[in-house]
Amino acid sequence: MTSATGRRFMVNPCAVVTGGSRGIGRSIVERLARSGFDVAFCYRAAEAAAGHLAEQVEAGGTRCRGARVDVTDHRAVDVFVAEVESAFGPVQALVNCAGMTRDASLALMREEQWRTVVDTNLGGTYHFCRSLALRMSKRRQGVMVNISSVSGIHGIAGQCNYSASKAGIIGLSRAMAKEMARYGVRVNVVAPGFIETDMTAGLPERARKAALERIPLGRYGRPEDVADTVAFLVSDRSSYLTGQVIQVDGGIVL
Ligand code: NDP
Repeated sequence: MTSATGRRFMVNPCAVVTGGSRGIGRSIVERLARSGFDVAFCYRAAEAAAGHLAEQVEAGGTRCRGARVDVTDHRAVDVFVAEVESAFGPVQALVNCAGMTRDASLALMREEQWRTVVDTNLGGTYHFCRSLALRMSKRRQGVMVNISSVSGIHGIAGQCNYSASKAGIIGLSRAMAKEMARYGVRVNVVAPGFIETDMTAGLPERARKAALERIPLGRYGRPEDVADTVAFLVSDRSSYLTGQVIQVDGGIVL
């Protein structure tokens, strides 16, 4: 793991965030650190951004580590979780945010486009949930938040792979919520709408404008809008919420 400063810190509850190097995940790392969590996050490639983020968070007084872990690799995920628990203590909160798109209409979608998106978005969420399910159940404590999308609720043309993966996350989370409630572990989903990150920056201006016209609140979402909702869901203020899907989408009409 890439550590930041090696300073001495108070012992805080620990959170794990996947896809924490950029965009929504980065904002979640910062928000949970401000809420008093030590945060470990993973990323796929953005090493410089991850190192900078960890240093910046630790300057604020909580521990933070970033590690290059591909969420599609279940062995690497298990090793990462074990390393985090031995360095930071029991993981109290898991946020599955790593995700990607490879858009194409289904008729033209290559096998590789389907597999990469489903393996990353749904497979990665499964790997982290499975790795922490037994640990949290045994301790009778923990909370998971999985990031889906409005695309997984309504379906978006040109995103069959992405919509399927994000709908799968909702099914996985609702079933897990039922399995794990008896152990005091909560599982919820956040489904963002159009959020301004690298993922949406590459869209043609025409598509961005069309999206904006469908948002009643009249603006694109910010990563912080999602992070604030996640912070609520991992806190005791949501202690009677499980198996829920919360849309953070400005009221978007699809
Ligand atoms: P970004 O593209 O900005 O960031 C994606 C993050 O996921 C990066 O940290 C990236 O790491 C990481 N990641 C991707 N693949 C892997 C992998 N195989 N293993 C480990 N980490 C990986 O995306 P956003 O911030 O926009 O999206 C975050 C989540 O929110 C995603 O699940 C996305 O589907 C969802 N979402 C986003 C919306 C939006 O409008 N932006 C709308 C609805 C949902 P690295 O930096 O190393 O590449």
